[in-house]
Amino acid sequence: AREIHLASRPQGWPTPENFRSIETTLPDPGPDEVLVRNTFMSVDPYMRGRMNDVKSYVPPFELDAVMDGGAVGEVVASGSPDLAVGDTVLHQAGWRTHALLPARAVRRVDVSQVPASAYLGALGMPGMTAYVGLTRIAEMKEGDTVFISGAAGAVGSAAGQMARQLGAAKVIGSAGGPEKCAWLTDELGFDVALDYKAAPIGKQLREHSPVDVYFDNVGGDHLEAAIFAMADFGRITACGAIAEYNAAAPSPGPRNMMMFVSKRLTLRGFIVTDHGDVASEFYRTAGAWVADGSLRWRETVVDGIDNAVDAFLGLHRGDNTGKMLVRL
Ligand code: NDP
Repeated sequence: AREIHLASRPQGWPTPENFRSIETTLPDPGPDEVLVRNTFMSVDPYMRGRMNDVKSYVPPFELDAVMDGGAVGEVVASGSPDLAVGDTVLHQAGWRTHALLPARAVRRVDVSQVPASAYLGALGMPGMTAYVGLTRIAEMKEGDTVFISGAAGAVGSAAGQMARQLGAAKVIGSAGGPEKCAWLTDELGFDVALDYKAAPIGKQLREHSPVDVYFDNVGGDHLEAAIFAMADFGRITACGAIAEYNAAAPSPGPRNMMMFVSKRLTLRGFIVTDHGDVASEFYRTAGAWVADGSLRWRETVVDGIDNAVDAFLGLHRGDNTGKMLVRL
């Protein structure tokens, strides 16, 4: 088995030297344990924060130890009466080719209708983030105009399609580059896609204001642009701020905060793992949307555990359309 360790803590952009690939040998599973051969692991933006030694909502990765994160795989040996060899399972022991886990740390997933990788994307944590962010945090209503940044990513592409299903009057997305923008409007049903690399986002968004709900994945210039474009009583979901994750120093905040007062705006942050109570509603609703074709996705797949760091860096450079995954 092979696994990726954090060798040192990155300052600003991570480099390959911050990571180490290690060969390991795993024992056979004991009672109530399973040995899983991972087939896909997720790389996610929140992992960048875990590379820093700071207190946050998830503990930092330890130095010289295997990292972790979402993964799916196949049970290859089982000491548990509840899990059989061949079962496909979802768990948190990513960044490694094989994992020995207590049976209670894995969840069997149904791969009869969707591939296992979907449980790392639209039917997994990113999809649930989109759903919670729209329905619980922004309290999106029918008829709202919704703007989503990072719209061609895993969370954003799900959020845009969900906003449409929830009755948005207009769905606006922003993404980097014409191909991503074409995907949003031609295949995912966004009304408007703004290429933030082609012209300043503030200038482009102004033409589509007022916006009732802003789903913020990016922060920085996008947040400032959205505040300018918000309708009175508009709601902003603070989901992420990827523009800032690799900055060596914090960037200045939006310069138009006074508009929160004049427009009576709300900004609310959230962490998806606090909303486990929404999970069954999410699986039921998103499952139905997948079944009827109204929730679709793309994956950008990088092959091999030794390319996982590249995949992670690529995610921050925007190499992915839809969910970034590593196939193991
Ligand atoms: P994505 O699939 O969206 O991948 C990241 C994308 O960010 C890239 O594809 C790139 O797209 C974009 N990006 C990178 N740098 C910039 C920049 N400077 N300005 C604008 N866009 C940039 O990742 P996820 O869908 O997994 O995550 C999206 C956001 O959601 C992140 O901020 C993440 O932290 C957050 N999140 C929050 C959760 C929560 O519980 N609050 C849970 C899960 C995710 P492009 O080519 O368009 O630039």
